[in-house]
Amino acid sequence: MTDFKAMVEALRNPRLQGFGTTIFAEMSALALRTQSINLGQGFPDTDGPDEVADAAVHAIRNGPNQYPPLPGQPGLRQAIADHQKRFYDLTWDPDSEVLVTAGATEAIAATILALCDTGDEIVTFEPSYDSYSATIKMAGAVERPVLLNAPDFGFDLADLEAAISPKTRAILVNTPHNPTGKVFSLSEMERIAALAIGHDLIVITDEVYEHMVFNGEHIAMAGLDGMRERTVSISSAGKTFAFTGWKVGWVTAVPELRNAIMTAKQFLTFVSAGPLQPAIEVGLRLGDDYFHTLRDDLRHKRDRLATGLEAAGFDMLPCHGTYFLTADIRGVAEQNGLPNTSVEFCLALPEAAGVVAVPSQVFYATPKAGRHFIRFAFCKKDDLLDEALSRLAVLAP
Ligand code: PMP
Ligand code: GLN
Repeated sequence: MTDFKAMVEALRNPRLQGFGTTIFAEMSALALRTQSINLGQGFPDTDGPDEVADAAVHAIRNGPNQYPPLPGQPGLRQAIADHQKRFYDLTWDPDSEVLVTAGATEAIAATILALCDTGDEIVTFEPSYDSYSATIKMAGAVERPVLLNAPDFGFDLADLEAAISPKTRAILVNTPHNPTGKVFSLSEMERIAALAIGHDLIVITDEVYEHMVFNGEHIAMAGLDGMRERTVSISSAGKTFAFTGWKVGWVTAVPELRNAIMTAKQFLTFVSAGPLQPAIEVGLRLGDDYFHTLRDDLRHKRDRLATGLEAAGFDMLPCHGTYFLTADIRGVAEQNGLPNTSVEFCLALPEAAGVVAVPSQVFYATPKAGRHFIRFAFCKKDDLLDEALSRLAVLAP
C-alpha cells in the first residue's frame, strides 16, 4: 500500500523546508485555546474609518465587482500617486509607475521574483518580517541578513558592505521596522543609498507602517538623491486604514521596474479586491487629521503599554514607530522561574499570565541574536491593554 504521508513528504519542495505555519497563526491559535489576551499577531481590534467601509459596501452593491485592470483601478492609482506627492513630495505617473497588489506581501513576492534568478542574493536586515526569507527562498534566491544591534537596532556599515557581493540584486529595507519599532534615520538611509548606487543595486522598501512614526520622521528612500530610479517602494492599506484583512497594497517604481514586477504579479493573483480598491482610494484622500490622529493614538497606546510592561518587570527597548514593542525577558523570567528564551517564554506566558506575545527570535536568521526578546502589539483598545497589564502584573517584582 502506498504510504501517502511519506510520498507527499518526498514530493515537497525542499525550498520550503523548515517553513511550517507562521508564528502569527500559531500564536493566535494559542491565544484562542488558552483564552488569553492576544498581543501577538499585529492587527487592530477596531476597524477602520466608516467612509472607507461605506465606499466598499457601495462598490459591492453597485460595482465595480469584476476584474479590475491589471495595474489597478485608475482612481486608486491616481490616489496612490497623490498620497506620495502629499506626504513625500514624490511625483509618480499613475499610469506607468504605480501598481496595485494583493497586500504588501504580494508586492514583495512579485518584486523578488522579478529581480532574482536562482542563486541571486538579497540583502536584508535581521530581525525581519517573516515573509521575506520565505519568499527569497521560494524564488531560489539567497538571503544575506545584516544584524540590527539591540538596544537601538542600528547596523554596522561594515556588516552591510560585507553582505554585498557580485550576486546581490537588491537591499530590502523595512522602515518603520517590524518587529523592533525602529525607524531608519536619514543618515542610515543615506548610507544604504550610497552603497546601492556604488554597487548598482535596487533598494526595495517596505513602508507599510509609514504613518506610524512617533519620534523622528519617515524617510522615503525614493526621495533621496539618485534613488528614484532604483527604488521599489511598497506600502499597503492594511495598517494605515485598519483593514488588514482587505489586502490592498501597492508599488511605486519607474516604468521599467514597475513593468517587470507587474509581469510576475499577473501570474500570482492577476488582480484582487475589485470593490475594495475604490474604498482605499477614499482612504488615501482623507485629510491630514486622519493620519495625525492615527499616529497620536498609537503613540499614547505605546506609552500606556510600555509603562505597564516595565512595571511588570520587563526591560523595554525603544520603539519609535509601528505598533510593536520589544521587551527583554531575562529579568522577568528569572524573577518568576520562567524560561528565559523567547519561544519557550511565549509558550509559558498564557498559563503564567493569560497573555500572548510573539517570540522575536523567529524573526532572526541567527536565532541566538533574538533569543531574549519578545514582541507585544499595542494596536488594541485601551481597555484591552489595561486588562492585559493587570494580568501581567502577577509577574511584577
Ligand atoms: N511588511 C511588514 C513589515 C508587515 O508587518 C506586514 C503586515 N503584516 C506586511 C508587510 C504585509 O502587509 P499586507 O498585509 O499588506 O500584505
Ligand atoms: N504583520 C502582522 C504582524 O507582524 C501580521 C502578519 C500575519 O499575520 N501574517 O504581526
